[in-house]
Amino acid sequence: MIIILLGPPGAGKGTQAVFIKNHFNIAHISTGDMLREAVKNETELGLMAKDVMERGDLVSDDLLLKLINERIKNKDCENGFILDGYPRNQKQAASLDEIFSQSGKNIDGIVQIDVDFSILEKRITRRVSENKGEKRADDNLDVLKKRLKEYVEQTEPLISYYSNHKNYIVINGMSDISKVSEDIKINLNKLK
Ligand code: AMP
Repeated sequence: MIIILLGPPGAGKGTQAVFIKNHFNIAHISTGDMLREAVKNETELGLMAKDVMERGDLVSDDLLLKLINERIKNKDCENGFILDGYPRNQKQAASLDEIFSQSGKNIDGIVQIDVDFSILEKRITRRVSENKGEKRADDNLDVLKKRLKEYVEQTEPLISYYSNHKNYIVINGMSDISKVSEDIKINLNKLK
């Protein structure tokens, strides 16, 4: 099963991706986590991505394509995977279509977590103030605003890019975390 998760920063994609990974026994591919790991380990990729990420901008499409292309070849992806944070713009979506068609893979479902933008700032403010464990370098209000702008301009158009997919699922992301998970589970169990 191959699933793409769409939604703005702060919508709870990471949390729900972990739920889907565990429930459906598929790999969780978070490009944000992979990039943060690269930054932490000061790899070549990390050094290229660090400043861009701290500004809330998008890392280059070419770097991301390489990263994804390698990642989905891993053994843990044999049973499927959930893409969390990729694709982030139409160019990445087109690249993904291309690598999937070359390798005979299909997107089984797109899950869009729909949230009201006004609650995102509240959520992120709470995340910043709780500041539990390792603080994300991009966790502050100015950068969040930048990331939301980036989302609206670059990522939101993917909603229409994918809307004709036979399994395009819109989930109300304003409910409790467990209710959102339940809705996702019910919908993914019904995949055509
Ligand atoms: P995330 O954890 O998904 O919010 O990603 C954190 C940051 O990593 C983003 O603000 C971008 O700078 C970078 N990033 C993650 N995924 C992508 C992507 N698909 N394309 C470009 N940049 C990305």
